[in-house]
Amino acid sequence: MDTLRTYILRLVTVAVFMVAMTVPTVQARDFVVVIDPGHGGKDAGALGDKTNEKTVNLAVGLKLRKLLNKEMKDVKVVMTRDDDRFVTLQGRCDIANKAKADLFISIHANSIDKKSPKRKTINGAAVYTLGLSRSNANLEVAMRENGVMKLESDYSTTYQGFDPSSAESYIMFEMMQHNNLDQSINLAQAVQNEFVATAGRRNLGVKQAPFWVLVKTGMPAILVELDFICNPTQEKFMSSASGQDKLARSIFNGIKKYRGSNGKTTIAAQSPVVANDAGDNEDAEAETSAPAAAQGKIVYKVQFLTSDSELRRGDKRLKGLSPVESYRDGGLVKYTHGSTTSMAEAQKILKKVKKSFPQAFIIKTRDGKRIK
Ligand SMILES: [Zn+2]
Repeated sequence: MDTLRTYILRLVTVAVFMVAMTVPTVQARDFVVVIDPGHGGKDAGALGDKTNEKTVNLAVGLKLRKLLNKEMKDVKVVMTRDDDRFVTLQGRCDIANKAKADLFISIHANSIDKKSPKRKTINGAAVYTLGLSRSNANLEVAMRENGVMKLESDYSTTYQGFDPSSAESYIMFEMMQHNNLDQSINLAQAVQNEFVATAGRRNLGVKQAPFWVLVKTGMPAILVELDFICNPTQEKFMSSASGQDKLARSIFNGIKKYRGSNGKTTIAAQSPVVANDAGDNEDAEAETSAPAAAQGKIVYKVQFLTSDSELRRGDKRLKGLSPVESYRDGGLVKYTHGSTTSMAEAQKILKKVKKSFPQAFIIKTRDGKRIK
């Protein structure tokens, strides 16, 4: 008995050692893309006349996987589903987070209410990133897509009381920050351009909405709405092999462009919208005078908040932080505090800002433009 126990113990030790040995290869991994074909199994998604959303999403997802495997050799593809099965929304996020994915791409087809007179004519592709939208139309899309969590018997436990069909529920996302938003928007723009250029879709633009799968994934993440499956013409396109090829190719080309630019963001103009409220901040003078003396030099700022619209001076979401500056980036407004050429000073400012905004981080700027 004792020798058997020793033997088992030895086996376990070897097994643990082997697991430990594999850790470095995990770190030296490839670029991981998680493809998430929306819906599946008992959840058909939006319905067309002849087919349904889950079928279209899966077909395009599988074609995208094929393209990546064939033409982007350093990419490792992980699918949240590669057949007709039900996967929970949180389950999809868990797969992506566990795979330590570099990109998360959720594939969906759009639809509008059965009673809408535009149901048979509405068309166009849109790519979403995470954001709290002030637009009802965008929120409605997120509500419909998030609504599938109600198909899970214990959804209110899993989603902590979140009600996907109540607008109030989304208020909890108001202060939501997404560290990967810059990259997500770059990817979204690249894919959206391709939907127009390569797949001939009408351009509905890059949008922001609080989709659960974008809230809970910790990497650059987008959700694509290929086109409207309630429109028979678009349904025909999306269910045809050639249409699906073009849609998959569009996403592939978008990923390629995104990777080519290294996920770097280009910031157009810096436009401070909130005047400096000097006086209540002892560092204000030193900070605001820094840029003048810093021409051509790297200036550090602490970015603490992203909003899809400009906030008024004194908005409670700024939590009393002052002075603040902002710049526009990909349709979003980014808020910063502090301005210094010293990294040590920037760290001090960061520490202070983090008390109110735990996810704040330091950005580099030169001549008023963000650099990476
Ligand atoms: Zn969907």
